[in-house]
Amino acid sequence: MFQFVNTLAASHTIAEVNLTAFRHNIIMVKKQLKNCMMMAVVKTNAYGHGIVPIAQEAIQAGADRIGVTSVEEGSLLRQCGIHVPIHILPPITSSQAKDVVYHHLTATISSVDIAETISKMAVRQQKRMPVHLKLNTGLQRFGIEPNDALSFCKACYHLPGLSWEGIFTHFSSADEGDWATTENQFHLFTQTTKKLHEAGYSFPVHHVGASTIAIEREDMHLDMVRTGIALYGYTPDRRQDKLISLNRVLSLKSKLIHIRSLPPGSSVGYGGEYVTKANEKIGVLPIGHGDGFKRLLSNNGLVLVKGQCVPIIGTISLDQTFVNLTAIPNVHEGDEVVIVGSQHEQIISARDIADWIHSNIDEVLASLMSRIKRVYVNDG
Ligand SMILES: *Cc1c(COP(=O)(O)O)cnc(C)c1O
Repeated sequence: MFQFVNTLAASHTIAEVNLTAFRHNIIMVKKQLKNCMMMAVVKTNAYGHGIVPIAQEAIQAGADRIGVTSVEEGSLLRQCGIHVPIHILPPITSSQAKDVVYHHLTATISSVDIAETISKMAVRQQKRMPVHLKLNTGLQRFGIEPNDALSFCKACYHLPGLSWEGIFTHFSSADEGDWATTENQFHLFTQTTKKLHEAGYSFPVHHVGASTIAIEREDMHLDMVRTGIALYGYTPDRRQDKLISLNRVLSLKSKLIHIRSLPPGSSVGYGGEYVTKANEKIGVLPIGHGDGFKRLLSNNGLVLVKGQCVPIIGTISLDQTFVNLTAIPNVHEGDEVVIVGSQHEQIISARDIADWIHSNIDEVLASLMSRIKRVYVNDG
């Protein structure tokens, strides 16, 4: 069979993934946790870093569990020999129950129907499936309402083949530092679990927090935190940078595949969105919005060439990007371009790119398509 996804990538553009930095981040996050498990969240192709090598490295470096958002990701990791608990963070649908049971994935449950379906499948396959109950405390994405939790447990808690290992919620506004909202959600969660416990429905693993909570709110760690972005070297918000020392894991590198000298008044690229003001030297990079290098970066943003910041000009196309090299002497076709990462003393981070396009780091990193080759490196 053709392995066309990888062979069709522009091989001059690579995402270098530093596993030493990744391990450092796991250790730094674990240092914040006391008697509390750590789930490494590797959804969205490990935020663009490559799900399989990252999940394997996370476990070796001490992550207790793995979190994903699709049954497909979970099944893939099982097929790659990962044996620790793998949580599917969103609720599953009944058509996925068979795979969940087959691969022994930890399902998130927020409906009676799904609980019954998994129970039936588990009994049929003679298994006892770990499941976690999701409560909606304000994100309004998934989860049962706290007011319905008791009747839900009456209906589902004793279904055969299910082991109610955990209960959790997800905050809506912690990254923004909105502690009033977050504390309300937390109280709603703890009140609800207390009521359930008093009624005889207990859940050994309580969890509510992601990276922000791991870094800032030890009082909300409970039995486990689910950390994603911090493991890749970024705090969710700049205010946290002084609280934890993380190393960026991903660098995005390319090469100048073409350079041309243009007279003043030349319009460059689709739609002529950039016009040269003088004699200018324009370079072309083999990366475009088809790689997840966002079109919003057209005429907006910088890359590093020979240790200097040079502007992105014109409209980004599917596979190519123009940069203005006029200020850079001695630049040649084949020279390295750093899009994310450092070159000499200069650094461009995924946070910088997020700022330029009014996005967030998750989007910048996770958008990098799998056709970009990932190269895994370790420091010395
Ligand atoms: C993505 C996600 C996380 C991880 O969030 P980070 O802010 O990246 O640490 C944790 N829990 C759930 C439910 C998620 O969807």
